[in-house]
Amino acid sequence: MKKIFFYNTLTRKKEEFKPNDENEIKIYSCGPTVYYFAHIGNLRAYLFMDTLRRVLKYNGYKLKHVMNITDVGHLVSDSDEGEDKMLKAARRENKNPYEIAEFYMDAFLKDIDKLNIDRPEIIARATDHIPEMEEYVKKIIENGYTYQTNDTIYFDTSKLKKYGVLSNIKIKDQKAGARVEFDQNKKNITDFALWIKAPKNHIMKWNSFFGECYPGWHLECSAMGHKYLGENFDIHTGGIDHIPIHHENEIAQAMGYCGEIPANYWLHVEFLQVNGSKMSKSLNNLYTILDLEEKGYEPSILRMFNFTSTYRAQINFTFEAMDSAKVALKRLREGYLKHKEGTEEVLKTEIDEYKDRFLEAINDDLNMPVAMSIVWDIIKSPKKSKDYAELLLDFDRVLGFDLDSYVKQETSLPEEIQKLIRERNEARANKNWVESDRIRDILIEKGYTVKDSKDGTIVDII
Ligand code: AMP
Ligand code: ZN
Repeated sequence: MKKIFFYNTLTRKKEEFKPNDENEIKIYSCGPTVYYFAHIGNLRAYLFMDTLRRVLKYNGYKLKHVMNITDVGHLVSDSDEGEDKMLKAARRENKNPYEIAEFYMDAFLKDIDKLNIDRPEIIARATDHIPEMEEYVKKIIENGYTYQTNDTIYFDTSKLKKYGVLSNIKIKDQKAGARVEFDQNKKNITDFALWIKAPKNHIMKWNSFFGECYPGWHLECSAMGHKYLGENFDIHTGGIDHIPIHHENEIAQAMGYCGEIPANYWLHVEFLQVNGSKMSKSLNNLYTILDLEEKGYEPSILRMFNFTSTYRAQINFTFEAMDSAKVALKRLREGYLKHKEGTEEVLKTEIDEYKDRFLEAINDDLNMPVAMSIVWDIIKSPKKSKDYAELLLDFDRVLGFDLDSYVKQETSLPEEIQKLIRERNEARANKNWVESDRIRDILIEKGYTVKDSKDGTIVDII
């Protein structure tokens, strides 16, 4: 077994990964707030989560991985300011927040399926865990880490030996240099709401020891992590934006609850930028999977694009880079196919050497650009061999391009039908719907059913 190394935000070092229990790795990932479609930046976070899962599985580990779905309590600003994102969305779409959550959770799960993201074993919705959250708050209160105002129970961060272990912040400095508006009810600027009394017209609220309330955003991750993974688990993931508030507060809550930092390794994925700037609606540069599909980029191209950078580096999204990723994906599929049809022999030592290099790369804090460079070496080899094809399939357990099923679909059909499918995919990519429909009719006439999928046209014999 090869060692695995992760950069741990908690210790600010790359460290060897030592699980609590070799038989099962326990992971918690902060999931989406389901108030809108996930954009390609959000999806980078889940592609990173997917690679982490695949790398651990490739190393032979079993996983127990929890991802939450935030469907209540996440205010517009991460630090308890503004309106609940769900309620704001409900107003925008003239629906109730439960309908919003249902719709966008479904859309999110479809997106991650399209990206072939390996789903965590447990996907847990915040609103399904209100009793667990209430119990969690009660224990923090019992342990003396809170104070209450008329309408809110706050976590008192000054009660901790140290608040801010991830980002190394000091409460005093925060006060002095604070730019955020200071909520006058709080004793310290870093204090945060655990449990909040709901105003009368608030739809998402639950009867509790403190009246009709709703939970603060950070609470769900502590309560659900604790429920499924216990007081101390192996890995916690999220985006870098979670470091200074959300994850600090999760750690604070767990310290207040049981005196332990909940996870041993904290992994954070850097942001995706678009043309060098932040993605935002106002800059009109916010893209979803559907937007990409409409522009002729199947979801696997985004996966390929993401592998051009390590998860700890910022990545800059441009359509030129997506075009290169499109070409690369085609090269990978065609290269795999050529090896699959190859007849030459490859020495076992050579295969082993490739395997070793690949494992070294992925175990070095998920270094996918290096892992892909090894893949390209194999694709480029003038020797065409089934052994290489098998090796690529083995690597695909980590890469997640689903090479085999793609190729099976491509090669099991008569050449004439394959050609029609290629032409139809091309027509669809160019938004030539008339041509696409014309080819569909020909395929149907020839005895095939026609469906559109993430990988283009899929046909079946009627
Ligand atoms: P949210 O749904 O807003 O809670 O965000 C879901 C996840 O997406 C979080 O892990 C964020 O850190 C992450 N995220 C948001 N914007 C970006 C971005 N531009 N690049 C990468 N990750 C992002
Ligand atoms: Zn979280």
